[in-house]
Amino acid sequence: MDHTKKKVYCCLECGLHYEDEKLAKKCEAWCGEHRSCNLEITSHAVENKIKKIINKNSNEQRTK
Ligand SMILES: [Zn+2]
Repeated sequence: MDHTKKKVYCCLECGLHYEDEKLAKKCEAWCGEHRSCNLEITSHAVENKIKKIINKNSNEQRTK
């Protein structure tokens, strides 16, 4: 474990991580009940935030 990293909370149903415990619990409740992910919730997941940053960077590198 890297202790310099921010603490994140894991949804035990889908395995996504959240910086906010409330969001993780919300996701877990949704995943457990609906057996699918709520995009509004999962868009806040650490994994999806990283993807956004990577996409942004690759767009910036692509010059005309
Ligand atoms: Zn989940």
